[in-house]
Amino acid sequence: MRRLTALGAAVLLTAGCSSPDDGAMPLGFSRASVEAQRALERRVIERADSGRVRELHRELTRLPHPAGSIRDRQLAGWIARQYTEAGLDDVRITTHEVLLPRPLEVSVEMTQPHTWRAEMRDATDGAPGPTSPSPREMLPYHAFSASGEVSAPVVYAGPGTPADYEWLARRGVDVKGRIVLVHSTGVYRYRGLAAFTAQQFGAAAVLMFTVREKVASAAGPPGHDATAMAGIERGSILYDFFYPGDPQTPGWASVPGARRLPRSEARTLPRIISVPISAVDARLILSTLEGPAAPEWWGRDAARDHVGPGAAPVQVRVQIDDTVRPVWTVTGILRGREEPDSIVVVGNHRDAWVFGGVDPSTGTASLLELVRVLGMLCREGWSPKRSLLFASWDAEEFGLTSSTEWAEQHAEWLRSRAVAYLNVDGAASGSRFVAGGSPSLREVIATAAGAVVDPSTGVSVLSTERGRDAQDRGIPAAGTDGDVIADRLGGGSDYTVFLNHLGVPSVDLGFNGDDWAYHTAFDTHQYVDRVTDPGFRYTTTMTRLLGVAATRLVSADVVPIDPVAAAAAIRAYWREIEPRVPRNAGGSQAVEAALDDLARAAQALGRRRDLALGSGDSGQYGDLNRRLLQLERSFIEDGGLPGREWYKHVLMAPARSYQPLVLPGLAEALDSADAGRFASQAERLAAALRRAAVLLTER
Ligand SMILES: [Zn+2]
Repeated sequence: MRRLTALGAAVLLTAGCSSPDDGAMPLGFSRASVEAQRALERRVIERADSGRVRELHRELTRLPHPAGSIRDRQLAGWIARQYTEAGLDDVRITTHEVLLPRPLEVSVEMTQPHTWRAEMRDATDGAPGPTSPSPREMLPYHAFSASGEVSAPVVYAGPGTPADYEWLARRGVDVKGRIVLVHSTGVYRYRGLAAFTAQQFGAAAVLMFTVREKVASAAGPPGHDATAMAGIERGSILYDFFYPGDPQTPGWASVPGARRLPRSEARTLPRIISVPISAVDARLILSTLEGPAAPEWWGRDAARDHVGPGAAPVQVRVQIDDTVRPVWTVTGILRGREEPDSIVVVGNHRDAWVFGGVDPSTGTASLLELVRVLGMLCREGWSPKRSLLFASWDAEEFGLTSSTEWAEQHAEWLRSRAVAYLNVDGAASGSRFVAGGSPSLREVIATAAGAVVDPSTGVSVLSTERGRDAQDRGIPAAGTDGDVIADRLGGGSDYTVFLNHLGVPSVDLGFNGDDWAYHTAFDTHQYVDRVTDPGFRYTTTMTRLLGVAATRLVSADVVPIDPVAAAAAIRAYWREIEPRVPRNAGGSQAVEAALDDLARAAQALGRRRDLALGSGDSGQYGDLNRRLLQLERSFIEDGGLPGREWYKHVLMAPARSYQPLVLPGLAEALDSADAGRFASQAERLAAALRRAAVLLTER
């Protein structure tokens, strides 16, 4: 799913030396092996073909393919055949049985002051919307909405944050038992949080609409005013900030026959009715509201908007068929020659709300092209040192479902063997390179981005100048023109189980832009080819970038996991929250001391690695790799975060909004002003940092 600009990081780390052919040694390579790697990268870059990427994309987006549909199953088989033809080993389709709600009926209507019914399809003003074989497959809905019927007045709650409900309450506007209307504008506003907040404040139902400021007319019907387009943003409202995946199997895999929690015990299932509507229909409802004027900070059209409650009731009816259905994960392996048991995983989801133009098929096409290119290079004699596993996930849109279930099923295997996880959701909705992830992978991603040419500018995707420019202006990642790599990840795509549950260093990559068709039926092949990525140039650039990063991870003498960058980033996280930490708070000194231990240990290992690589002392590589491969696992705390124990990484977790939250145990203890909890979380953090320091240096 991954929201438009997925990274809201406060601290950015931009690339240092990363222009193409700058001669610097890529991290982890000895002189003896670097030339072969450079030659391989040149072939990956040359062979990636945008014409082929376009053809793959056309096939992937030909029909709607929501998770669990017949077309989704057909595409799983088609991808498995692509893997096999490319020469991947052990190609498998793994089935999980998960809760997968589908809409039977979704309606919003009024009988006073006039009779009106919301248009529950993506449409342009006066012109028909995209058509498909079955209107049922196109019906916009919120996955995991409760079923039921509500007839009540509407209250407009702006963005729908707790502050907005408190503002309404101060003006005597009660939302209890009423239908709230909320809009989503800012980046990173997870609709599940809007539903959760409405439920907490006692609303009976919630209607959501998306304001899209910039609309590209090129994708609309010829001559049509695209600003009037009424796309409806589908999506899940699962409360996956408690845990992602199948709501009835938290922490274990939904293999056929698995134990399932009763639904009443599944904390991630909403109890509120929730429906997405178009901005055009929302405007009509708003025009019927009186009462206090909306506050300015809600933006939009505050001068015109009133918050209600409306004089006449609105009827909302939702019937969901929520049965347990199969979903399909496709995997295949390029077997490593020297360390076949060390695995780099590259994944992307396949399921789409409708046609899945940008999201996810640009990612799927870029990965399939990489599989084809690497398969070809293997036939010509290349073989990776470590293994490379490709995955096509399913039901990501429902709650990161198949990646979560698959990784829970293979948890022990991944804990002992996984080197890194590279995620691509939509590969290209524009030209701005945005990445985020484990700080230990920053160097390999930044230098891979530096090795690949940006098709618009003709210089590297992440050149020194562009990186510096972003840094000088002190700009945040989201909503800027600068290319950035953030040293953290929030929520919203398939890396979550790898990073936050299992402690596999992970990164999420994309070329971002204004994607007004996000999760609507307008997100098609034509939309990508005409609007977001004409000629599939950035989708193909992603193939190249991933190819460079993945082959470095599987080919380096010493895995390019950077412990020094990790230690520095953790210290920066601590500095970020330090102003909120009370003086002499319990555990603070232990954290400071452990940060020093880790920094020293990381420096020592870095020196050892550089000496070994510099002298070609290959006898040391195995020991260095063993330590680096387990580094991120040190940051996993089995007890998990209080109240959401599935999230076990002590350095980062998604906030409920999907924003990245660093040192989440400490941050949440500070939020709850609980000194005892802060002290115990600080001790846990210090223990994790000491584990990492010992791992890097013990004899
Ligand atoms: Zn997606």
